[in-house]
Order: sequence, then structure tokens, then C-alpha cells
Amino acid sequence: MAMALGEFELIERFFKREQAGVLLGVGDDAALLAPSPGMQLAVSADTLVEGRHFFAGTDPYAIGWKSLAVNLSDLAAMGATPRWFTLCLTLPRADADWLQAFSGGLFALAEAHGIALVGGDTTSGPLAISIQIIGELAPAAALRRDAARLGDDIWLSGPTGAAALAVQQRLGKLDLAGADLLHCARRLDYPEPRVQLGLALAGLAHAAIDVSDGLLADLGHICQRSGLGAALLLDALPGLPLALPPAADALQVAQLSGGDDYELCFTAPVSARAALIALGERLGLPMARIGSMQAGAAVTVLGADGRVLPQARAGFNHFA
Ligand code: ADP
Ligand code: MG
Repeated sequence: MAMALGEFELIERFFKREQAGVLLGVGDDAALLAPSPGMQLAVSADTLVEGRHFFAGTDPYAIGWKSLAVNLSDLAAMGATPRWFTLCLTLPRADADWLQAFSGGLFALAEAHGIALVGGDTTSGPLAISIQIIGELAPAAALRRDAARLGDDIWLSGPTGAAALAVQQRLGKLDLAGADLLHCARRLDYPEPRVQLGLALAGLAHAAIDVSDGLLADLGHICQRSGLGAALLLDALPGLPLALPPAADALQVAQLSGGDDYELCFTAPVSARAALIALGERLGLPMARIGSMQAGAAVTVLGADGRVLPQARAGFNHFA
């Protein structure tokens, strides 16, 4: 399509890079890729739409970072090694400054994970970024949602809720300040996909999911696919490092139902506890054992007194 900055000039200038591990990259009708011998491919895609997945006016560097981060997170939750991605960009206009910052954020994360942009598409329209990511994994190594077993521990790679608090702040519904505001904004704009953890969980964990829609909702997917229920201990949830956390109610809703943190929630046998604690220390992640897989179909949350929390269900709808 035609834009002020020509489509081909735009691709050439901002998205064509020397890339290792690619037979043929950006510039032909299709990319040519050679998977490692004996490995399976893991393929996933995610779209971010302005006004729906990020606020209008978000720093384009952060948009570039997050567009790729959410895709890397899906491969992390599968236990796959990310290798390649494609980028479908819908832009209201070809703004060189915007593209410079966007590609800066995108490639900062791509380079950190050693993955290559191998193609895509560029059209005009309301701002949307769609990325497809391709990774590799050994046969039978995948951390599938249907693989949780009765009695498994449930683990979380780090605190959830900060990103949702930043959303509430930007909507004018919450008053965060100082370091708390910076922390929550960083969690919303620059999620850190847990790729290394996902890879290290092979042989230790059974099922995994990345927390994009909220802990209750996402753990619910593991339950549904595995034909089991889950019991979470509210007191076991990793705490948010905030000086002045919001009122207990708002905090609890954010922790249980806030999306966008991209921590991994996974299940593992009791026998893996020591290895998982050591792994968390090695990766510097505040991993926590937050509950267990049980017979049934629902996710229940138990308070300190061992009673099922009625708020858990209400909290589920709060950010819907
Ligand atoms: P076609 O008309 O065959 O679809 P395009 O003109 O859309 O080809 O794209 C030309 C080349 O540039 C292709 O190799 C395509 O993969 C790549 N490309 C297009 N848009 C992007 C983008 N946003 N990021 C990376 N590569 C892109
Ligand atoms: Mg095209």
C-alpha cells in the first residue's frame, strides 16, 4: 500500500536487519527457515490494538517491546525456544519518529532473546500490531494446559496485579505515586516474558500457562483442559513490592483477576519442590507455591482461616 514514507522504504529502513539462523528473510514472497533436526515447531500469534490492548498515546518503544513480549510469553508457557517472528503492522500513517522508537523496542527484546524478524505485512488503518512467533521444542517436552495431575502443586513465577493497578491508575480510578507508580507502569508497559523459566521447567512441571487475563481465569483454563479443580491459598500469593498498596479489596482483585503481568502459572509434582526452589533462586525469580490441583472443576481461593473466599468469583468480573 502507499504511504508518505513508502512501504518498501519503511520496511527496508526499520524492519530489515542482518539475521542469523534464517535461510531467507525479509524481502521475498516468503521466508525460508530451517528447523533444528528432530525438533517440533511451536507457533503462536497475538495482536495488540490501540485503545483495546494499550492506551492511545503509549510510548511507541513500549508498544514495540510489549507486542513481542506477549508472544514470547506464549512460547515460554509452552516451554519452547523462540526462533523467528513475523510482524503485521497496521498504521494510521507512516511516521518515521514513531517507527524508529517502535522498532527500537521491538528489536531490543528480539536481540535479547536471539530471535529473527523474518517477514510480515504493512497496511494502513487503525493502529494494530500483530505478531506471529515460531519456536522449537523437543518432542513431548511441551508444557500443555491439559497435563496437570491430581495433587500437583500450583506455582506462580512472581507477583501478579501490578499491571492491572497501572491500568486503574491510567483510568483515574487509583492514586499511585512515586516508586509504586513507576513499578506498576513498568510492569504494564515492559512485561518480561519468562522464557528461561519455561525452558527450565521441562522435566519438572506438568502444565503451564502465562497469566495474561488474570490468575483465576488462566488457571481456570488449566483446570478445564485437565479435568481438575484448583485450590489457591490467598496468603501464599507472592506480595507486590509496593510501599503504599491500595486497599486490601482492590489489591486482592488485582492479584487474582488482573491481567497483563505475564508471569507463568504452572503445576508440578510435590517431588519437584526442592528443584523448583533452587531454579527460582538461580533465575532470581520470586517464585511461590500457591496451591494445589484437586478433584472438581472450579478454582477456589482459601483465606487464612481455610474458608473459601466468596470475593474470588466477584473479583473475576472486575476487570472483565
Ligand atoms: P507481498 O506483496 O508479497 O505480500 P509485501 O510487499 O507485503 O510482499 O512485503 C515485501 C517483503 O517485506 C516481504 O518479504 C514481507 O515479508 C516483508 N514485510 C512486509 N511488511 C513487513 C513488516 N512490517 N516487518 C517485516 N517484514 C515485512
Ligand atoms: Mg504483503
